[in-house]
Amino acid sequence: MAKVLAVLYPDPVNGYPPKYARDSIPKITHYPDGSTVPDPEGIDFTPGELLGSVSGELGLRKYLESHGHQLVVTSDKEGPNSVFEKELPTADVVISQPFWPAYLTADLIAKAKNLKLAITAGIGSDHVDLNAANEHNITVAEVTYSNSISVAESDVMQVLALVRNFIPAHEIVTEGGWNIADAASRSYDLEGMTVGVVAAGRIGRAVLERLKPFDVKLIYTQRHQLPEDVEKQLGATFVPDVKDLAKVVDVAVLCAPLHAQTYHMFDDDLIATMKRGAYIVNDSRGKLVDRDAIVRALKSGHLAGYSGDVWYPQPAPADHPWRTMPNQAMIPHMSGTSLSAQARYAAGTREILEDFFENKPIRPAYLIAKGGQLAGVGAKSYTVKKGEETPGSGEKE
Ligand code: NAD
Repeated sequence: MAKVLAVLYPDPVNGYPPKYARDSIPKITHYPDGSTVPDPEGIDFTPGELLGSVSGELGLRKYLESHGHQLVVTSDKEGPNSVFEKELPTADVVISQPFWPAYLTADLIAKAKNLKLAITAGIGSDHVDLNAANEHNITVAEVTYSNSISVAESDVMQVLALVRNFIPAHEIVTEGGWNIADAASRSYDLEGMTVGVVAAGRIGRAVLERLKPFDVKLIYTQRHQLPEDVEKQLGATFVPDVKDLAKVVDVAVLCAPLHAQTYHMFDDDLIATMKRGAYIVNDSRGKLVDRDAIVRALKSGHLAGYSGDVWYPQPAPADHPWRTMPNQAMIPHMSGTSLSAQARYAAGTREILEDFFENKPIRPAYLIAKGGQLAGVGAKSYTVKKGEETPGSGEKE
């Protein structure tokens, strides 16, 4: 019997289940690269239900208990008296979502003597100290592609919201006003602008594809340059360094995973090289940018806008400066947890658990670390160095 500890975000304030806006979600069988969506032996939920909150339990309870396993679900994750930290030392499997991350620091991993598998229900495993996971031979897996398109859609929405000045204009209406001059005085067309995508992985590529019809100039930087035919199809030009990208873009869209090479990539120095009036959209990880440098650049007017759904820490404290900085379109971490995405990553979590319990190989595309080293998609996206903390797992802002 295994103990599975799932850390999920709290239920809706008005209770669970919520009243859904729609009766169903479209059935998607394949991702854009032709790979199949998660394919567990079964699911015990209806796609379109809220699964990522505590009562949703990622639809796992029936499956786990019928196989003799124990499932503990909590949203209480901060500090030594939290349910998470109390249950962790006897847990075999930890499941966490990036939206409400259970930060698995090196210290906590050292105390988790039974831990064999850490699953990210979603994408992005920087909340796990990957070095420590490797030292303790813990497998880290995530549900690759499950919400990449969800995030790409949100990125495009956020680019348009900033450039068109949508949110302040909407606020004018809800406040009873009709002041077109105020709404229009920061509103531009995206057409003709240069948009730069940082990391053309699954999300970045989908952003490029979706922005192409807007008649923008597309550039990208990426660890592994895309094949020529793909670049041609996307109409995107490769630049080898983020510095080359920063100085020419009107809009930068950050799509890179968080690791030592990407930590604070957009700091005061890099932002200073950007055009006055550039925008940044970041749904990757909060620590890809220097928090206070963003605030400074918005206050001085050097940046015209910043939008993101990723913060550090999460949940963000009430006094986090990004809540009140000017010209921002911030949202809580939600682009990858649409109800559509939840159905995929809940099924993917179940698929990973089935493989783990039946001693079958987990899809390589889902693996971040295994057998003491980065593996699968993790080897392509992350870097680890002995003794170096994974930036998303630690307390350093
Ligand atoms: P992916 O693995 O397909 O793509 C990441 C790409 O980044 C890879 O191609 C990798 O080569 C590239 N990369 C890594 N380091 C780089 C560097 N230093 N410079 C340039 N490129 C670099 O993953 P994805 O599905 O596109 O997701 C990307 C990230 O987005 C995740 O790691 C996660 O942090 C974030 N994400 C956020 C949400 C959300 O809800 N906001 C949801 C999913 C993913």
